[in-house]
Amino acid sequence: MGLFTNRVERNEIKAGDHIYSYRVAFVYAHHGIYVGGSKVVHFTRLANISQTHEDDMIALLPSNCPTFPDCGFRQPKSGVVLSCLDCFLRKDALYAFEYGVSPSVFLTKFRGGTCTTAASDPPETVVHRAMHLLQNGFGNYDVFQNNCEDFALYCKTGLLTVDSLGVGRSGQASTLVGAPLAALLSSPLKLLMPSPIGLATATAGMYCMSRYATDIGVRSDVVKVAVEDLVVNLGWPSSSIQTEGEEEAENEKSIEQIVSVLQNSMAVPPADLNRNTEWFTYPGVWTTYILILFFSWLLVLSIFGCTPGTAWTIVNLSHFLVTYHFFHWKKGTPFADDQGMYNALTWWEQIDNGKQLTRNRKFLTVVPVVLYLIASHTTDYENPMLFLNTVAVLVLVVAKFPNMHKVRIFGINGEQ
Ligand SMILES: [Zn+2]
Repeated sequence: MGLFTNRVERNEIKAGDHIYSYRVAFVYAHHGIYVGGSKVVHFTRLANISQTHEDDMIALLPSNCPTFPDCGFRQPKSGVVLSCLDCFLRKDALYAFEYGVSPSVFLTKFRGGTCTTAASDPPETVVHRAMHLLQNGFGNYDVFQNNCEDFALYCKTGLLTVDSLGVGRSGQASTLVGAPLAALLSSPLKLLMPSPIGLATATAGMYCMSRYATDIGVRSDVVKVAVEDLVVNLGWPSSSIQTEGEEEAENEKSIEQIVSVLQNSMAVPPADLNRNTEWFTYPGVWTTYILILFFSWLLVLSIFGCTPGTAWTIVNLSHFLVTYHFFHWKKGTPFADDQGMYNALTWWEQIDNGKQLTRNRKFLTVVPVVLYLIASHTTDYENPMLFLNTVAVLVLVVAKFPNMHKVRIFGINGEQ
């Protein structure tokens, strides 16, 4: 598997692998879990036949597979299907989805829906989840938002999101959301922009960051749900025969049940009781942060009429001054009711209760680095901009090192 493509050969995949294949000239990918023996378990839409992909329609038809009689097996009314590898691929190329990639590798993969920073569970667990959902059905409740990629991500990690933002969790969704958003943001710019390179860099940077922020391995609003709980709470006994009315009532109850299960598991860690840092744990904060940086750049660009590179440098240096002051210099909290327990700590030291290497901390470290890369690239690595940008990123990143926790270099900003 190379850096730029996840293309694999059939003999390279193992049971428990998350595989996918592009449909319709690389526009849409279909995902599934390889369970061994040339079989794939995948999730197809059931609910609304008129809106299904052509791909999912195929799965609704009775199997006419020449090789395997059980190919196309599904429980009645279940969207989870067993197919043979040939029928799954339909002569298209095979790709393997990567798990546990580092944030830097993740950011270099331009296309969404090819990898995640989340770690995969052991293959036995993955196959167990897929087979369990195949056997017990999954109903048409769109806990996976009717998305084959979400289904595969769930089987691999056991993670589900409680989606308050309406932003899809999977890369496929963020490709759909991210790309038009970036295009939309960049279109009025074409009048302003003297250089198409600056525009491309800005759009790409923004797109990559938004993909990163919606990655299941990065988001904080995910919960691990055991497959048995999922099926039990969905109330889909595969054997029982029900009448239409009963089934509907059963369905409604089960949706309420799963929502409450998800909410309960979400409610477990009241992660941060410090009001000074609590706001940063809300969903959507990362995206807002990135948007603010992007719009600051637009603002600088239109006010000063400078080159995109100079504008990025100004944004980078302002971001340095503002975040250095508020994250690493100012101590305590603006709230009186914490009785001074945070008085000796900076905001950075307070966040996540001082826990190191959390997702929020990693995100906050990645931001100045990406800003630095954009700013120095768009200024063609020329001084004095390069020097200023480098100083800014070094100070911000060093200040965020775990071993700098509560350290005051040369006693600067020490106890009064
Ligand atoms: Zn088949």
